[in-house]
Amino acid sequence: MGLSRSDPNYVTFHHGTLPLIIAAPHGGQRYPRHVKNRPSEPESNTKPDLFTREMALSVAHGVSKVWQERGGTQRPFVVVCDLARRKVDVNREWSEEVGPSPEAKATWKAYHGALNEAVEAVQRQFGAGLYLDLHGHAHPTNWIELGYNIPGPFLRLDDEALDELEILRQNTSIYGLLERTDMSLSEGIRGNRSFGHQWKERNTGFEAVPSPQLPWPLPNDVYFKGGYSIQRHGSAHRKHSVDAIQVEMPRLARLHVDERAKVVAGLVDTVVWMLDQYYN
Ligand SMILES: [Zn+2]
Repeated sequence: MGLSRSDPNYVTFHHGTLPLIIAAPHGGQRYPRHVKNRPSEPESNTKPDLFTREMALSVAHGVSKVWQERGGTQRPFVVVCDLARRKVDVNREWSEEVGPSPEAKATWKAYHGALNEAVEAVQRQFGAGLYLDLHGHAHPTNWIELGYNIPGPFLRLDDEALDELEILRQNTSIYGLLERTDMSLSEGIRGNRSFGHQWKERNTGFEAVPSPQLPWPLPNDVYFKGGYSIQRHGSAHRKHSVDAIQVEMPRLARLHVDERAKVVAGLVDTVVWMLDQYYN
């Protein structure tokens, strides 16, 4: 794909053949000088989620290898923003603040166009699918934060109270999955059939929240519930039948090559379990 000035399309898109979409909006490392920077305040909003681009591609590769071992050639969809977050933030609703340059706007459009295309293809071919949005956080908790569009204070409710709030169920980015499997919200996000539980079984050395072991973040923990992309492209209100989970990985899980490999292997195994269980 051309990345010259005349082609302002800084998005990597691999068309897939599995009901799985792996995306990384903040891992881009391209800083073309002619593309205007975003304002640097607050600084955390313009820093890259380091190595998430590489990890998205590695997870996709790992999943394809599992299918090869099963005698197939299937592979996931991949959507990665290559332009640095200093230039564009594709995980926000469009505004001037998201990117002050024409290239940023074109990239934002191309990125969500690719996600739309992937979601539609998955719906058409498989009826339902899974979309993982990979991110990095720098919170001292060192947990993998799983975002289902449920704010931390609600996660601190016990299962019964959580499941009574129909509005939360309607708004979660895995609403379609809950409906298809007849799971309650608490089962879907922190029960024995949840992503968080399966993640724990992989023994990567990193805990996940929410999960049966860590059902909620504590009031002082910073926790990301998930952003624009999982809200727009996930299955809340059953607008789509692609279920979305935002996966926020701590620095320790990304910066060192050995830890990164362990976490990628854990993600591959967990995602394959999800596909076998819910999307085949
Ligand atoms: Zn991010």
